[in-house]
Amino acid sequence: MKQRVFSGARPTGKQHLGNYLGAIQNYVKLQDEHECIYCVVDIHALTTPWNPNDLKDNIREMVLDWLAAGIDPKRSIVFTQSHVPEVTQLHTLFSMITPLGWLLRVPSFKEKARQFPENVNYGLVGYPVLMTADIALYKATVVPVGEDQVAHLELAREIVRRFNQLFGATFPEPQPRLTEYPMVVGLDGYRKMSKTLGNHIELAATPEETRRRILTAFTDPARRLRSDPGHPESCNVFHLYSFFDAVGQEAIARDCRAASIGCVGCKELLAQKVNEALAPFRERRAEIAARKGYVEDVLRDGAQRAEAIARSTMEEVMEKVGLAWNEVKPPKVSSGVTK
Ligand code: SF4
Repeated sequence: MKQRVFSGARPTGKQHLGNYLGAIQNYVKLQDEHECIYCVVDIHALTTPWNPNDLKDNIREMVLDWLAAGIDPKRSIVFTQSHVPEVTQLHTLFSMITPLGWLLRVPSFKEKARQFPENVNYGLVGYPVLMTADIALYKATVVPVGEDQVAHLELAREIVRRFNQLFGATFPEPQPRLTEYPMVVGLDGYRKMSKTLGNHIELAATPEETRRRILTAFTDPARRLRSDPGHPESCNVFHLYSFFDAVGQEAIARDCRAASIGCVGCKELLAQKVNEALAPFRERRAEIAARKGYVEDVLRDGAQRAEAIARSTMEEVMEKVGLAWNEVKPPKVSSGVTK
């Protein structure tokens, strides 16, 4: 039987190279041997200040990138978190068995509290509980994570373990699956590539925009003049080559150390490699974007398939915790207006 993978991503709009190399590429590969559920976690996006007008567009743009990159909505379930409301029900139940101390020690909570001191809200503290509900609702056994998220998943495993101890074996303990490229450094040369930090390159950018962005990248800080020998090992442009031209990377290292290539020329070459690699993606993206209503159809179908799993899990959970609502809930009635 195939293992079930769950992964959620906040709707951040158009995706960048860091998203692609660190997560999306892996999502695509996982489809070959797993049953995959990929979720746009829009409720999570509300734990920090948000603009309601941007949310829908961000979801659409992100899903467009996923589909263009090769996530196949026939093989995988692709949906939006809030379209399957059972997740909030499970989140509430998990919140009753999760000690506050576990949540207050989570590094990302402390970081977000520092970042948004005016908005240290209940939802932010409970973020890992909602994340656990996301995974457990679909009884996922594998969660692809970057190294920086391993601690979050460990907390999810603790919450699930506690539920199982209290109410009997219900949920599998999800296992982390480290991505092949754990971290992609941004154009500033030292921080993780991120839209918030503005050190990113959008996948859907035009070739010229991509070139211009790469030309702004920081390089070896010790190389001041064109004639100075460079240190490729401390240059992020060089590391980016490993993703797009691993073979040519050796020649770049040699030429850089011998000062026979300048940083501008080196970046121009990288831009060319990146644009070549992304050309099929960009073509496919434009083709999908032109199909009216396609993304919405994918999300609707995904929500229906996810809902079927979620409903079955919640019937079992409600029974186990003693909220046997199945016995008393009224039969479904038509929502049509009586004339
Ligand atoms: Fe980096 Fe290339 Fe400049 Fe060397 S030549 S420091 S690898 S950008």
